[in-house]
Amino acid sequence: MADFDVPKLNEYPIVPKLERDVMKHSSPFIAAEKFQTPLGFPGELPDNWKEIAIDKMGELLGKYRSLQVFLDICVHCGACTDKCHYFLGTTDAKNMPVARQDLLRKVYRRYFTFAGKYFPKLVGAVDLTEEVLDDWYSYFHQCSQCRRCSVFCPYGIDTAEISMAARDIMDAIGKGQKYCNEIIAKVFVIGNNLGLPEPALADTLEGLEEDIEEETGVKVRLPLDEKGCEILLITPSADFFAEPHVDGLMGYAKVFHEAGISWTLSSKASEAANFGMFIGSYENMRKLSLRVREAAIELGAKRIVFGECGHAWRVAYSFLNTLAGPFDFLDPKYPVPQHICEFTYDMLKEGKLRMNKAENDHMKLTFHDSCNVARGAGMGQMEGGQFIIPREVIKASCNYYYDMDQDTIHDSTFCCGGGGGLLTDDLMELRVKGAQPRMEALKKVSEEHGVTNLAAICAICKSQFAKTLPYYGFTMDQIVSVHQLVSNAIVLKGSEQEAELDAEKAETA
Ligand code: SF4
Ligand code: SF4
Repeated sequence: MADFDVPKLNEYPIVPKLERDVMKHSSPFIAAEKFQTPLGFPGELPDNWKEIAIDKMGELLGKYRSLQVFLDICVHCGACTDKCHYFLGTTDAKNMPVARQDLLRKVYRRYFTFAGKYFPKLVGAVDLTEEVLDDWYSYFHQCSQCRRCSVFCPYGIDTAEISMAARDIMDAIGKGQKYCNEIIAKVFVIGNNLGLPEPALADTLEGLEEDIEEETGVKVRLPLDEKGCEILLITPSADFFAEPHVDGLMGYAKVFHEAGISWTLSSKASEAANFGMFIGSYENMRKLSLRVREAAIELGAKRIVFGECGHAWRVAYSFLNTLAGPFDFLDPKYPVPQHICEFTYDMLKEGKLRMNKAENDHMKLTFHDSCNVARGAGMGQMEGGQFIIPREVIKASCNYYYDMDQDTIHDSTFCCGGGGGLLTDDLMELRVKGAQPRMEALKKVSEEHGVTNLAAICAICKSQFAKTLPYYGFTMDQIVSVHQLVSNAIVLKGSEQEAELDAEKAETA
């Protein structure tokens, strides 16, 4: 199945023996000029690339004080070394977070510190050479910016920020990554990652309405570009076609229907994902976020709700207001934005949703906390809401739920292995190896509690698991959307299921 060795799943986590440069060959396709220029980046490496790169580094150090602090304060204590899923899965020494940081730190010291300028060897400072740049390109694309290492660092050093800065510098010298930059350009031109134009999107939504009606006998709408609706839903475009994402979208529609609230999708902002964050580009992240603001104004929406997408939720929850605010034109009674899980949770608490958990009895569930939700955002009006709310929604939808080991969930969660702009086929070996720690925890909970399925609220996690589960002896359909469980369990008013349940109830009364 694979032309590389798939890591073994152990009974308990084992820190591997370090190996040198075994993943040096792993680097994504470089973006061609046509994918670079729409984002404001040069198409290829200019002659004076070193000068531009150092200038860019200087600009970022001035702009983001955290970057300079992170580069200055590491004491090489080693607490982060065994915390990265890519190190655990690949054994490559440069995938230890501190070693990854050092790739940039050494160059920073050479050009921006007194000691590095005059006594480089003493402080491990190095010149920026083509060899160093190749290492940057390879190993900063072996970091999914998941931030797990920062949880264990006594100084809170965030390798994700260092990796974003490195990618930003590389973009500035024409060494961008094809997968991310091509996608960002598509969103600018068409509105979503897939390049799905408005008529195709309208067709897809119509098809989904038919599917729901066929299944339940109830006409549930999935409106597009409808003005004057209460809610504008911003969701990842994978929700429109991919499995299991699309089952989640049908779940959102059913929840809105039962809540009796008007809502719409937007063809202009038909993408929640914001790959601007992955490439560390504030300008592109802002441009992508402004589409959400413009769509909300044009459609006259009163609230903005985000669908199941991990990094999109981080951008929305943590940065949307500063990137595209103020949102003073929205209804001040509601937080801006809200997560779909938060919305469903509120409806459950208000008793607006009737659930038949038995519909999910063929599954025993566990939940994968997605990195950007777990470590980069919150949810709802409670501390730890990002851990509590999705679990409460799952538990309201099924009878069997079991958590994986504590050191692999909540803010210690392991990345799926495909986040941070690495969900591309040219990085398949890295993705499979990076999934190993999560697969190990899944295997354990499967053996201990008979868990059959893994639920997630991130489009990238869902796609990554659908592809990597089979490498570890699972099947691709073992990954499910949280709102797929809601969709299965929700009892729509006027549905055949409601009639059956009422008849059963009357019989037993
Ligand atoms: S941010 Fe995540 S992927 Fe990057 S070095 Fe830290 S643990 Fe590894
Ligand atoms: S845990 Fe923090 S201080 Fe220690 S080596 Fe890692 S990044 Fe440096």
